[in-house]
Amino acid sequence: MMKRFLVSLVLMIAPALMADVSTCPVSGEKLGEMGPPVSIDYQGKKVAFCCDSCIAKFQKDPAKYLAKQQGK
Ligand SMILES: [Zn+2]
Repeated sequence: MMKRFLVSLVLMIAPALMADVSTCPVSGEKLGEMGPPVSIDYQGKKVAFCCDSCIAKFQKDPAKYLAKQQGK
């Protein structure tokens, strides 16, 4: 009984924890909706984007997009 409860709890919480990294910081699109997400390493942190053109935009002004993503 208890085990089944814990499993459903984890299934409820997991998407909420993933939500932070599941959108593109440039376009705000959900990753995976426009094809497989692409990611780069920025200052030792993995940042995922919906497409290559968003990476190009991000690299022109990374601080702006990171602040935007964190300031939700
Ligand atoms: Zn994109």
